[in-house]
Amino acid sequence: MGILIVDDSENTRSLLEFYLKGAGYEDVFHAETAPEAFSLLKTNEIDLILMDISLPDISGIEACHHIKTMDHHKDIPIVMVTGRTDDTNLQLAFEAGAMDYLTKPINKIELLTRIRAVLKLKHEMDSSKKIARQLEEANQKLQLLSSIDDLTGIANRRQFNQSLDKEWRRSLRDNKPLSLIMIDIDCFKLYNDNYGHQAGDDCLKQVAHVLNTQARRPGDLVARYGGEEFAIVLPDTNAESAVLYANRVRMAIDALHIPHEYSKTAKYITISMGVATVITNSNMTPENLIKLSDDALYQSKQEGRNRITAAKV
Ligand code: GH3
Ligand code: MG
Ligand code: MG
Repeated sequence: MGILIVDDSENTRSLLEFYLKGAGYEDVFHAETAPEAFSLLKTNEIDLILMDISLPDISGIEACHHIKTMDHHKDIPIVMVTGRTDDTNLQLAFEAGAMDYLTKPINKIELLTRIRAVLKLKHEMDSSKKIARQLEEANQKLQLLSSIDDLTGIANRRQFNQSLDKEWRRSLRDNKPLSLIMIDIDCFKLYNDNYGHQAGDDCLKQVAHVLNTQARRPGDLVARYGGEEFAIVLPDTNAESAVLYANRVRMAIDALHIPHEYSKTAKYITISMGVATVITNSNMTPENLIKLSDDALYQSKQEGRNRITAAKV
């Protein structure tokens, strides 16, 4: 337990040290001035500071204030030691971050009782800070988990909704186009029925992975929308670029060549897509954009699957 005594009076320092060592506090450090105290803090493990209020040059209150701005030392409890008990000085000390005070002449019992109480309080504050930190970490993990699809590891519907809302507002603010692609695997029921549910899951994972690698710009978001449906949010992307993008995605899935003998479109897994782009305005909602791409997707299915339809806006 490191205790630092900051006092310009040799007598007070010796007396404090005598009492402290007598009570079993072995690591006692001395400083005559505030600057000396600052440098001792840098080189030693200090758990508590006893600070004389009236120090030469930099006063104890200023020193206390300064320590409370030091990143590594701001949590060290400071007990002011003062000959004067006028309220203004003490108030200033507490405002500067002091935790308690002692009056001169030093009373041994009072000194040791205060120190024990302050160290106990510090210990409790440290533990509750630690718990708060752990809680914060757990919350972050939970937040992450609740935004990720279990099977595929990509964003889930929840994160999709959040991201679409966020990009919607950004698009309104910046007056930039916003595109959305809805994707549905073709004849996936036949895949499951013939190859089994486990193979179906593996296929979904592969498709999700490839879709996810196609998202290249920071705001792009690929999500599992549900079942064998996926969605891609493309901020600041006009209709033409969105269709080019969709083409690239479709070719990437084709290139996987996941065998699907029972598909009505090809001998391997294919996807159908609906692309919609809007210049957002306050009369529209994100749901309008979803509906547009969903309808376009439906049209792709109607017209024979394995294709891209761009919504007419
Ligand atoms: P279409 O080409 O018209 O889209 O036909 P489809 O068979 O793909 O569409 P349908 O909606 O009839 O069937 C979707 C299938 O997707 C049915 C369901 O068993 C399967 N599916 C949905 N979620 C999962 C999943 O998490 N794992 C597996 N293995 N299959 C899933
Ligand atoms: Mg479907
Ligand atoms: Mg399908």
